[in-house]
Amino acid sequence: MNNLQQDVERLIAEQTTSWETARRNYAALRRIRSKTLSFDAFSVGVQFNPERVRSTTARVEAPEERPCFLCPENRPAEQRAVRWEGYELLVNPYPIFARHLTLPAREHTPQRLTGRVHDMVQLAGELPGFVLTFNGARSGASAPDHFHFQAVGRGVLPAEAELPAWPETTEIFRDEHVSVCGIDHYLRPAIRIWGSEGQAVARAGEEVLVCLKQATSCKSKETDDDEAQVNALCWKEAQEYILVLFPRTAHRPAEYYATGTEQFLLSPGAIDMAGVLITVRPEDYERANEETITALLGQVVPDAAQWETMKEFLKRCLTENLK
Ligand SMILES: [Zn+2]
Repeated sequence: MNNLQQDVERLIAEQTTSWETARRNYAALRRIRSKTLSFDAFSVGVQFNPERVRSTTARVEAPEERPCFLCPENRPAEQRAVRWEGYELLVNPYPIFARHLTLPAREHTPQRLTGRVHDMVQLAGELPGFVLTFNGARSGASAPDHFHFQAVGRGVLPAEAELPAWPETTEIFRDEHVSVCGIDHYLRPAIRIWGSEGQAVARAGEEVLVCLKQATSCKSKETDDDEAQVNALCWKEAQEYILVLFPRTAHRPAEYYATGTEQFLLSPGAIDMAGVLITVRPEDYERANEETITALLGQVVPDAAQWETMKEFLKRCLTENLK
């Protein structure tokens, strides 16, 4: 085990025993309700996790109106950190999984992946026991004003097993260092980037962000941000780095903002895109089935026609930018 992974294992052991909030919430995970929805070639888990209500209902529209919970001066006194480069690795006190970290930048700086894909890939290499995740500022992040990754233990996200072997793909780019393909017929379109050289994978990831921004700049109301809205996953499997980007078209489905029985509190982020949907009210958990989830996710990701256009654009753009 390398040093960073070892330090993180120690941090998890320490925080989940001596920090009462973390100890209680990690212990409660063992009693959490969950179910599996079966689609033709993949499955989606649904978790009922009321402690996540802070994240699901975060008022991302006006982050400046609350103290930033990722800045060191506002964190709980018991929360310890492991430092790595410009980041701090923290145990997430409101976990979704038994191993769940938050990795804020040390500076209070916006949630923008551009320029940080290399960090994500490098962290995935240094933490082989984890999948790194990223939520765009308007794609599920609860702190859009303070940059952060999250990380969850390997082996809990369906996408991690499903995507490397997914049979329905469209080749987007390939050279001797890196491959890029589109993942089709997966409920939420995805872009898989992989190769054995972290640098090449990171560079391709940065270029995909540039091309996605160009591809979506005139087509969505939510692109006043300066990068395309995405969720991302990154992990290292044997000698290969795998980076997955999920393009997004909306932050939350219309049902999120509805009232009464029409309301469904689902605020999808990378974990949801990776195949584990987080519900925070019992009524939403009960109503989550193949039909409702297809309709809800369909509102926040490109539709079939948009996806075809996006892939064609990416093929041209990446070939131009990566040659
Ligand atoms: Zn902050």
